[in-house]
Amino acid sequence: MSGLGARLDRVRADIAEAAVEAGRDPGEITLIVVTKFHPAALVAELASLGVRDLGENRHQEAQAKAAELADLGLRWHFVGQLQGKKARQVRAYASAIHSVDRPSLVDALRSEESVVDAFVQVNLTDDPNRGGVAPGELEALVERVLATPGLRLRGLMAVAGLDVDPRTEFARVREYGERVRRLAPEASDLSMGMSHDFREAIAEGATHLRIGTAITGNRPTGG
Ligand SMILES: *Cc1c(COP(=O)(O)O)cnc(C)c1O
Repeated sequence: MSGLGARLDRVRADIAEAAVEAGRDPGEITLIVVTKFHPAALVAELASLGVRDLGENRHQEAQAKAAELADLGLRWHFVGQLQGKKARQVRAYASAIHSVDRPSLVDALRSEESVVDAFVQVNLTDDPNRGGVAPGELEALVERVLATPGLRLRGLMAVAGLDVDPRTEFARVREYGERVRRLAPEASDLSMGMSHDFREAIAEGATHLRIGTAITGNRPTGG
C-alpha cells in the first residue's frame, strides 16, 4: 500500500476510535481531506481510496482541480478566507463553504438559482486577521445567512488558536453551536478539528473534520 493509503487508513482508524471513546457513531463524522498545495494527481489517488470530500483554501487552485477531476463525483469544501468578488465563482464548484464570516460575503453569495451549504466561521482569537466572525456578532450573521436565498446553513466552523488547549477551544465552539441552534435548529453541524487536534474536536462534537498533513504528508510549498 502507498504511504498515502496507509496514512489515510491510520487517520480513519483514529477517527473511529475517538468517536467510540466519545460515545459517538463514527458514521456521523465526515472526513474532509484538505489537499491545498498538492497536485490533482494526489486528489485522484485519494478518490481511488474512497475519499469523496476534499478541502481547499485558495480559489484558483480549487477551481483548477475541480475542473480537472470533474468526472470523479467529488465534493469540494472551500475552507479558506474568501473575497466577495470570488464568491460566485466558488459557488460554481463548491458543495460547501466553511468560511462565511461577514455580512458582505453573505450578500455576495446570494443566489436565486442554486443552493450551497454554508458554515459560519467563528473567530476564537482576538486577532481579526485570522478570519471568522467575532462571537458577539454571531447571531446577527447567522440571521443574515438564514435570510439569504441560495445558502443552506449547516452550522459553525472554527480553527483552534495557537498555544491554547484545543479541547477548551472546541468546547467553546460547541457552546456557540447551541446559540446557533436556537435560531436554526437544523444547523447543528460543527466543522472543527485538523491533523493535530481532531481527537479533541470529536470529543466536543465535531461533525466535519478538515485534515490535511496527517493524510497527505507535508505540503509541497508553504501553506
Ligand atoms: C490547511 C487547513 C486545514 C488542514 O490543516 P492540517 O494541519 O494540514 O490538517 C484545515 N482547515 C483549514 C481552514 C486549513 O486552511
